[in-house]
Amino acid sequence: MYYKQFHNLKISALGLGSLRLPEKEDHPGCIDREKAQKIIDLAIAGGINYFDTAYTYHEGDSELFIGEALSKYERDSYYLATKFYAMSGKRIQDVFEEQLKRCRTEYFDFYLFHGMDENSFDKYTDKQNDYLGYLLKQKENGRIRNLGFSSHAAPETLKRFLEWHSGFDMALIQLNYLDWTMLEAKRQYEILTDYGIPVWVMEPLKGGRLSLLNKKSAAILRNAAPEHSLSSWGFRFLMGLPNVQTVLSGMSSLEQLQDNLRTFEYLNPLDLEEQKALEKAAGLFMEDLGVPCSGCRYCCPTCPAGLDIPLLLKGYNEKNISGETWRVAQLGKKKGPEQCIGCKICLKHCPQKINIPEIMERFAKNVI
Ligand code: SF4
Ligand code: SF4
Repeated sequence: MYYKQFHNLKISALGLGSLRLPEKEDHPGCIDREKAQKIIDLAIAGGINYFDTAYTYHEGDSELFIGEALSKYERDSYYLATKFYAMSGKRIQDVFEEQLKRCRTEYFDFYLFHGMDENSFDKYTDKQNDYLGYLLKQKENGRIRNLGFSSHAAPETLKRFLEWHSGFDMALIQLNYLDWTMLEAKRQYEILTDYGIPVWVMEPLKGGRLSLLNKKSAAILRNAAPEHSLSSWGFRFLMGLPNVQTVLSGMSSLEQLQDNLRTFEYLNPLDLEEQKALEKAAGLFMEDLGVPCSGCRYCCPTCPAGLDIPLLLKGYNEKNISGETWRVAQLGKKKGPEQCIGCKICLKHCPQKINIPEIMERFAKNVI
Protein backbone atom coordinates (compact mmCIF):
# COMPACT_ATOMS: atom_id res chain seq x y z
CA MET A 1 0.00 0.00 0.00
CA TYR A 2 1.22 3.46 -0.71
CA TYR A 3 0.25 6.42 1.43
CA LYS A 4 -0.38 10.08 0.82
CA GLN A 5 0.33 12.82 3.28
CA PHE A 6 -2.66 14.86 4.49
CA HIS A 7 -1.34 17.54 6.87
CA ASN A 8 0.32 15.42 9.58
CA LEU A 9 -1.56 12.22 8.67
CA LYS A 10 -0.38 9.42 6.42
CA ILE A 11 -3.51 8.11 4.76
CA SER A 12 -3.69 5.02 2.57
CA ALA A 13 -4.30 5.83 -1.10
CA LEU A 14 -7.09 3.24 -1.06
CA GLY A 15 -9.87 3.53 1.52
CA LEU A 16 -12.71 1.17 2.29
CA GLY A 17 -16.24 2.38 1.63
CA SER A 18 -18.97 0.57 3.53
CA LEU A 19 -22.05 1.05 1.38
CA ARG A 20 -21.73 -2.32 -0.30
CA LEU A 21 -20.70 -4.73 2.43
CA PRO A 22 -21.94 -8.31 2.01
CA GLU A 23 -25.45 -8.84 3.37
CA LYS A 24 -26.99 -12.00 4.79
CA GLU A 25 -28.67 -14.04 2.09
CA ASP A 26 -31.66 -14.86 4.29
CA HIS A 27 -31.81 -11.36 5.79
CA PRO A 28 -31.28 -8.68 3.11
CA GLY A 29 -30.34 -5.31 4.58
CA CYS A 30 -28.43 -6.90 7.44
CA ILE A 31 -24.64 -7.08 7.06
CA ASP A 32 -23.15 -10.57 7.10
CA ARG A 33 -20.81 -10.03 10.08
CA GLU A 34 -18.59 -13.00 9.42
CA LYS A 35 -17.90 -12.19 5.76
CA ALA A 36 -17.64 -8.45 6.34
CA GLN A 37 -15.24 -8.81 9.30
CA LYS A 38 -12.88 -10.80 7.05
CA ILE A 39 -12.93 -7.88 4.59
CA ILE A 40 -12.06 -5.39 7.34
CA ASP A 41 -9.28 -7.61 8.69
CA LEU A 42 -7.73 -8.16 5.27
CA ALA A 43 -8.03 -4.43 4.50
CA ILE A 44 -6.10 -3.57 7.65
CA ALA A 45 -3.52 -6.31 7.03
CA GLY A 46 -3.11 -4.89 3.51
CA GLY A 47 -2.38 -1.40 4.84
CA ILE A 48 -5.75 0.35 4.43
CA ASN A 49 -6.19 2.83 7.27
CA TYR A 50 -9.19 4.87 6.05
CA PHE A 51 -12.77 3.64 6.62
CA ASP A 52 -15.79 5.50 5.35
CA THR A 53 -19.37 5.04 6.46
CA ALA A 54 -22.57 7.10 6.77
CA TYR A 55 -25.62 7.32 9.00
CA THR A 56 -27.84 5.98 6.23
CA TYR A 57 -25.68 3.15 4.76
CA HIS A 58 -27.27 -0.28 5.08
CA GLU A 59 -30.07 1.55 6.93
CA GLY A 60 -27.80 2.26 9.88
CA ASP A 61 -26.22 -1.18 10.06
CA SER A 62 -23.02 0.02 8.36
CA GLU A 63 -22.06 2.35 11.23
CA LEU A 64 -22.99 -0.30 13.78
CA PHE A 65 -20.90 -2.93 12.03
CA ILE A 66 -17.91 -0.63 11.46
CA GLY A 67 -17.98 0.21 15.16
CA GLU A 68 -17.96 -3.47 16.08
CA ALA A 69 -15.40 -4.53 13.47
CA LEU A 70 -12.84 -1.82 14.24
CA SER A 71 -13.18 -2.06 18.01
CA LYS A 72 -10.48 -4.74 18.15
CA TYR A 73 -7.94 -2.32 16.64
CA GLU A 74 -6.28 0.61 18.42
CA ARG A 75 -8.32 3.76 17.78
CA ASP A 76 -5.29 5.70 16.55
CA SER A 77 -4.32 3.01 14.03
CA TYR A 78 -7.09 3.98 11.54
CA TYR A 79 -9.06 6.97 10.33
CA LEU A 80 -12.82 6.91 10.53
CA ALA A 81 -15.18 9.01 8.42
CA THR A 82 -18.95 9.33 8.59
CA LYS A 83 -21.60 11.69 7.32
CA PHE A 84 -24.75 13.65 8.17
CA TYR A 85 -27.57 13.74 5.65
CA ALA A 86 -29.61 16.92 6.00
CA MET A 87 -32.49 15.56 3.91
CA SER A 88 -33.23 12.99 6.62
CA GLY A 89 -34.97 15.76 8.56
CA LYS A 90 -33.37 14.63 11.83
CA ARG A 91 -31.71 16.92 14.37
CA ILE A 92 -27.98 16.98 13.76
CA GLN A 93 -27.26 16.91 17.50
CA ASP A 94 -29.18 13.64 17.91
CA VAL A 95 -27.65 12.05 14.84
CA PHE A 96 -24.10 13.00 15.82
CA GLU A 97 -24.39 11.60 19.35
CA GLU A 98 -25.96 8.40 18.00
CA GLN A 99 -23.18 8.03 15.45
CA LEU A 100 -20.48 8.25 18.13
CA LYS A 101 -22.25 5.47 20.03
CA ARG A 102 -22.84 3.32 16.98
CA CYS A 103 -19.20 3.64 15.92
CA ARG A 104 -17.91 3.13 19.49
CA THR A 105 -15.68 6.16 19.32
CA GLU A 106 -15.21 9.51 21.00
CA TYR A 107 -14.27 11.36 17.82
CA PHE A 108 -14.42 11.16 14.03
CA ASP A 109 -11.28 11.80 12.02
CA PHE A 110 -13.44 13.01 9.15
CA TYR A 111 -17.03 14.20 9.27
CA LEU A 112 -18.91 15.12 6.12
CA PHE A 113 -22.13 16.70 4.96
CA HIS A 114 -23.61 13.86 2.93
CA GLY A 115 -24.53 14.20 -0.73
CA MET A 116 -24.68 17.97 -1.18
CA ASP A 117 -26.51 18.69 -4.44
CA GLU A 118 -29.08 21.02 -5.98
CA ASN A 119 -31.85 19.64 -3.70
CA SER A 120 -30.00 19.68 -0.42
CA PHE A 121 -28.03 22.92 -0.92
CA ASP A 122 -30.61 25.07 0.90
CA LYS A 123 -30.85 22.63 3.78
CA TYR A 124 -27.09 22.51 4.35
CA THR A 125 -26.74 26.28 4.17
CA ASP A 126 -29.88 27.07 6.19
CA LYS A 127 -29.08 29.71 8.80
CA GLN A 128 -31.67 28.60 11.30
CA ASN A 129 -30.49 24.99 11.50
CA ASP A 130 -26.86 26.17 11.36
CA TYR A 131 -25.47 22.67 10.81
CA LEU A 132 -22.09 24.12 9.98
CA GLY A 133 -21.96 26.08 13.24
CA TYR A 134 -22.75 22.93 15.21
CA LEU A 135 -20.06 20.90 13.44
CA LEU A 136 -17.44 23.62 13.79
CA LYS A 137 -18.15 23.56 17.55
CA GLN A 138 -17.59 19.79 17.58
CA LYS A 139 -14.34 20.37 15.73
CA GLU A 140 -13.27 22.92 18.33
CA ASN A 141 -14.06 20.34 21.02
CA GLY A 142 -11.94 17.69 19.28
CA ARG A 143 -14.87 15.43 18.45
CA ILE A 144 -14.31 16.07 14.74
CA ARG A 145 -10.77 16.30 13.42
CA ASN A 146 -11.51 17.29 9.81
CA LEU A 147 -14.70 18.63 8.28
CA GLY A 148 -15.74 18.02 4.70
CA PHE A 149 -18.63 17.21 2.42
CA SER A 150 -19.57 14.74 -0.24
CA SER A 151 -21.09 16.15 -3.38
CA HIS A 152 -23.16 15.08 -6.34
CA ALA A 153 -23.72 18.67 -7.39
CA ALA A 154 -23.09 20.19 -10.79
CA PRO A 155 -19.96 22.38 -10.99
CA GLU A 156 -21.85 25.67 -10.60
CA THR A 157 -23.60 24.49 -7.43
CA LEU A 158 -20.32 23.20 -6.07
CA LYS A 159 -18.81 26.62 -6.63
CA ARG A 160 -21.71 28.33 -4.86
CA PHE A 161 -21.30 25.95 -1.93
CA LEU A 162 -17.62 26.84 -1.63
CA GLU A 163 -18.44 30.53 -1.86
CA TRP A 164 -20.77 29.99 1.10
CA HIS A 165 -17.99 28.28 3.09
CA SER A 166 -14.50 27.73 1.72
CA GLY A 167 -12.96 26.35 4.89
CA PHE A 168 -13.68 22.65 4.34
CA ASP A 169 -10.74 20.33 4.91
CA MET A 170 -11.70 17.86 2.19
CA ALA A 171 -14.38 16.88 -0.32
CA LEU A 172 -15.63 13.56 -1.63
CA ILE A 173 -16.83 13.47 -5.22
CA GLN A 174 -17.79 10.89 -7.82
CA LEU A 175 -14.82 10.57 -10.12
CA ASN A 176 -13.92 7.95 -12.70
CA TYR A 177 -12.73 7.93 -16.30
CA LEU A 178 -16.27 7.93 -17.71
CA ASP A 179 -17.72 10.61 -15.45
CA TRP A 180 -14.62 12.75 -16.03
CA THR A 181 -16.49 14.14 -19.03
CA MET A 182 -19.95 12.57 -18.78
CA LEU A 183 -20.84 14.09 -15.37
CA GLU A 184 -18.37 16.97 -15.50
CA ALA A 185 -16.16 15.45 -12.80
CA LYS A 186 -13.17 17.17 -14.40
CA ARG A 187 -14.69 20.60 -13.69
CA GLN A 188 -15.52 19.59 -10.13
CA TYR A 189 -11.97 18.35 -9.58
CA GLU A 190 -10.57 21.60 -10.97
CA ILE A 191 -12.84 23.78 -8.80
CA LEU A 192 -11.83 21.92 -5.64
CA THR A 193 -8.17 22.09 -6.63
CA ASP A 194 -8.47 25.85 -7.17
CA TYR A 195 -9.91 26.17 -3.66
CA GLY A 196 -7.01 24.11 -2.27
CA ILE A 197 -9.34 21.35 -1.11
CA PRO A 198 -8.03 17.76 -1.38
CA VAL A 199 -10.28 15.36 -3.27
CA TRP A 200 -11.47 11.99 -2.00
CA VAL A 201 -13.04 9.79 -4.66
CA MET A 202 -16.24 7.74 -4.58
CA GLU A 203 -17.58 5.47 -7.33
CA PRO A 204 -14.11 5.03 -8.88
CA LEU A 205 -15.48 2.10 -10.91
CA LYS A 206 -18.96 3.52 -11.48
CA GLY A 207 -20.71 1.01 -9.25
CA GLY A 208 -18.58 -1.86 -10.61
CA ARG A 209 -19.42 -1.27 -14.27
CA LEU A 210 -15.84 -0.40 -15.13
CA SER A 211 -14.74 -3.79 -13.81
CA LEU A 212 -16.78 -5.48 -16.53
CA LEU A 213 -17.04 -3.08 -19.48
CA ASN A 214 -18.17 -4.74 -22.71
CA LYS A 215 -16.38 -7.26 -24.91
CA LYS A 216 -14.71 -4.78 -27.26
CA SER A 217 -13.50 -2.40 -24.56
CA ALA A 218 -12.30 -5.19 -22.30
CA ALA A 219 -10.32 -6.71 -25.19
CA ILE A 220 -8.52 -3.41 -25.83
CA LEU A 221 -7.44 -3.11 -22.20
CA ARG A 222 -6.49 -6.80 -21.88
CA ASN A 223 -4.33 -6.55 -25.00
CA ALA A 224 -2.64 -3.42 -23.72
CA ALA A 225 -1.81 -4.92 -20.31
CA PRO A 226 -2.73 -8.60 -19.92
CA GLU A 227 -1.37 -8.68 -16.38
CA HIS A 228 -3.72 -5.95 -15.09
CA SER A 229 -7.38 -6.38 -14.12
CA LEU A 230 -10.02 -4.15 -15.73
CA SER A 231 -10.66 -2.52 -12.34
CA SER A 232 -7.01 -1.52 -12.05
CA TRP A 233 -7.38 0.76 -15.09
CA GLY A 234 -10.00 2.80 -13.24
CA PHE A 235 -7.72 3.20 -10.24
CA ARG A 236 -4.58 3.93 -12.25
CA PHE A 237 -6.46 6.68 -14.11
CA LEU A 238 -7.08 8.32 -10.73
CA MET A 239 -3.45 7.88 -9.66
CA GLY A 240 -2.56 10.38 -12.37
CA LEU A 241 -4.51 13.16 -10.62
CA PRO A 242 -2.24 14.79 -8.03
CA ASN A 243 -5.03 16.36 -5.96
CA VAL A 244 -6.68 12.98 -5.39
CA GLN A 245 -5.90 12.05 -1.80
CA THR A 246 -7.72 8.76 -1.26
CA VAL A 247 -9.90 6.57 -3.44
CA LEU A 248 -12.81 4.89 -1.69
CA SER A 249 -13.95 1.57 -2.99
CA GLY A 250 -16.99 -0.28 -1.66
CA MET A 251 -15.47 -3.73 -1.76
CA SER A 252 -17.94 -6.51 -1.12
CA SER A 253 -15.71 -9.56 -1.50
CA LEU A 254 -12.20 -10.66 -0.52
CA GLU A 255 -11.31 -11.21 -4.19
CA GLN A 256 -12.11 -7.59 -5.09
CA LEU A 257 -10.15 -6.37 -2.10
CA GLN A 258 -7.12 -8.53 -2.95
CA ASP A 259 -7.11 -7.28 -6.53
CA ASN A 260 -7.37 -3.66 -5.38
CA LEU A 261 -4.61 -4.10 -2.81
CA ARG A 262 -2.33 -5.33 -5.60
CA THR A 263 -3.18 -2.24 -7.68
CA PHE A 264 -2.38 0.09 -4.79
CA GLU A 265 0.96 -1.49 -3.86
CA TYR A 266 2.69 1.50 -5.37
CA LEU A 267 1.88 4.68 -7.29
CA ASN A 268 1.52 3.55 -10.88
CA PRO A 269 -0.37 6.05 -13.06
CA LEU A 270 -1.14 5.28 -16.71
CA ASP A 271 1.58 6.13 -19.21
CA LEU A 272 0.76 7.89 -22.50
CA GLU A 273 0.20 4.68 -24.47
CA GLU A 274 -2.06 3.32 -21.76
CA GLN A 275 -4.02 6.58 -21.62
CA LYS A 276 -4.69 6.28 -25.35
CA ALA A 277 -5.84 2.67 -24.95
CA LEU A 278 -8.16 3.71 -22.11
CA GLU A 279 -9.66 6.55 -24.15
CA LYS A 280 -10.40 4.15 -26.99
CA ALA A 281 -11.92 1.54 -24.66
CA ALA A 282 -13.99 4.18 -22.83
CA GLY A 283 -15.31 5.55 -26.14
CA LEU A 284 -16.47 2.11 -27.24
CA PHE A 285 -18.03 1.42 -23.86
CA MET A 286 -19.94 4.71 -23.90
CA GLU A 287 -21.62 3.60 -27.12
CA ASP A 288 -23.01 0.55 -25.31
CA LEU A 289 -23.41 1.98 -21.85
CA GLY A 290 -27.16 2.18 -21.60
CA VAL A 291 -28.49 3.91 -18.51
CA PRO A 292 -25.57 4.83 -16.22
CA CYS A 293 -27.18 3.80 -12.90
CA SER A 294 -24.56 3.27 -10.19
CA GLY A 295 -26.91 1.33 -7.89
CA CYS A 296 -26.65 3.86 -5.02
CA ARG A 297 -30.42 3.42 -4.27
CA TYR A 298 -30.91 7.06 -3.21
CA CYS A 299 -34.06 7.09 -5.35
CA CYS A 300 -35.70 3.99 -3.84
CA PRO A 301 -37.15 5.30 -0.56
CA THR A 302 -38.65 8.28 -2.40
CA CYS A 303 -40.68 6.32 -4.97
CA PRO A 304 -44.39 6.29 -4.03
CA ALA A 305 -44.88 3.21 -6.24
CA GLY A 306 -42.24 1.34 -4.20
CA LEU A 307 -40.27 0.38 -7.30
CA ASP A 308 -36.81 -1.14 -7.13
CA ILE A 309 -35.57 1.45 -9.60
CA PRO A 310 -31.92 0.28 -9.93
CA LEU A 311 -33.07 -3.29 -10.54
CA LEU A 312 -35.47 -2.10 -13.23
CA LEU A 313 -32.74 -0.01 -14.84
CA LYS A 314 -30.44 -3.02 -14.82
CA GLY A 315 -33.19 -5.00 -16.51
CA TYR A 316 -33.65 -2.18 -19.03
CA ASN A 317 -29.93 -2.20 -19.84
CA GLU A 318 -29.84 -5.97 -20.19
CA LYS A 319 -32.81 -5.95 -22.49
CA ASN A 320 -31.18 -3.16 -24.44
CA ILE A 321 -27.76 -4.76 -24.69
CA SER A 322 -28.44 -8.49 -24.83
CA GLY A 323 -32.21 -8.87 -25.12
CA GLU A 324 -32.46 -10.62 -21.74
CA THR A 325 -35.67 -10.02 -19.78
CA TRP A 326 -35.58 -12.45 -16.82
CA ARG A 327 -34.59 -9.85 -14.25
CA VAL A 328 -37.71 -7.80 -14.74
CA ALA A 329 -39.99 -10.71 -15.62
CA GLN A 330 -39.46 -12.15 -12.16
CA LEU A 331 -40.79 -8.97 -10.55
CA GLY A 332 -44.17 -9.46 -12.16
CA LYS A 333 -46.46 -6.64 -13.25
CA LYS A 334 -46.95 -5.39 -9.68
CA LYS A 335 -43.40 -4.09 -9.44
CA GLY A 336 -42.68 -3.61 -13.11
CA PRO A 337 -41.99 -0.35 -14.99
CA GLU A 338 -45.70 0.01 -15.82
CA GLN A 339 -46.31 0.89 -12.15
CA CYS A 340 -44.38 4.15 -12.47
CA ILE A 341 -46.86 7.01 -12.06
CA GLY A 342 -44.50 9.57 -13.59
CA CYS A 343 -44.42 11.72 -10.44
CA LYS A 344 -40.73 12.64 -11.05
CA ILE A 345 -39.90 12.63 -7.33
CA CYS A 346 -36.96 10.29 -7.97
CA LEU A 347 -35.40 12.78 -10.39
CA LYS A 348 -34.42 15.05 -7.52
CA HIS A 349 -32.51 12.28 -5.80
CA CYS A 350 -30.53 10.70 -8.60
CA PRO A 351 -26.87 11.81 -8.56
CA GLN A 352 -26.43 10.40 -12.08
CA LYS A 353 -29.17 12.72 -13.40
CA ILE A 354 -30.99 9.80 -15.02
CA ASN A 355 -34.41 10.59 -16.45
CA ILE A 356 -36.03 7.68 -14.59
CA PRO A 357 -39.73 8.29 -15.44
CA GLU A 358 -38.93 8.64 -19.13
CA ILE A 359 -37.03 5.35 -19.10
CA MET A 360 -39.81 3.61 -17.15
CA GLU A 361 -42.29 4.78 -19.75
CA ARG A 362 -40.14 3.53 -22.62
CA PHE A 363 -39.53 0.27 -20.82
CA ALA A 364 -43.22 -0.27 -20.08
CA LYS A 365 -44.09 0.41 -23.72
CA ASN A 366 -41.24 -1.81 -24.84
CA VAL A 367 -39.60 1.06 -26.69
CA ILE A 368 -35.94 0.31 -26.04
S1 SF4 B 1 -41.36 8.87 -11.44
FE1 SF4 B 1 -41.84 6.69 -11.30
S2 SF4 B 1 -39.98 5.76 -10.59
FE2 SF4 B 1 -39.79 7.92 -10.15
S3 SF4 B 1 -40.54 8.15 -8.05
FE3 SF4 B 1 -42.29 8.52 -9.40
S4 SF4 B 1 -43.27 6.51 -9.58
FE4 SF4 B 1 -41.22 6.13 -8.77
S1 SF4 C 1 -31.41 5.62 -10.57
FE1 SF4 C 1 -30.00 7.14 -9.78
S2 SF4 C 1 -30.51 7.33 -7.59
FE2 SF4 C 1 -31.45 5.45 -8.33
S3 SF4 C 1 -29.95 3.85 -7.89
FE3 SF4 C 1 -29.56 4.53 -9.99
S4 SF4 C 1 -28.00 6.11 -9.82
FE4 SF4 C 1 -28.86 5.81 -7.76
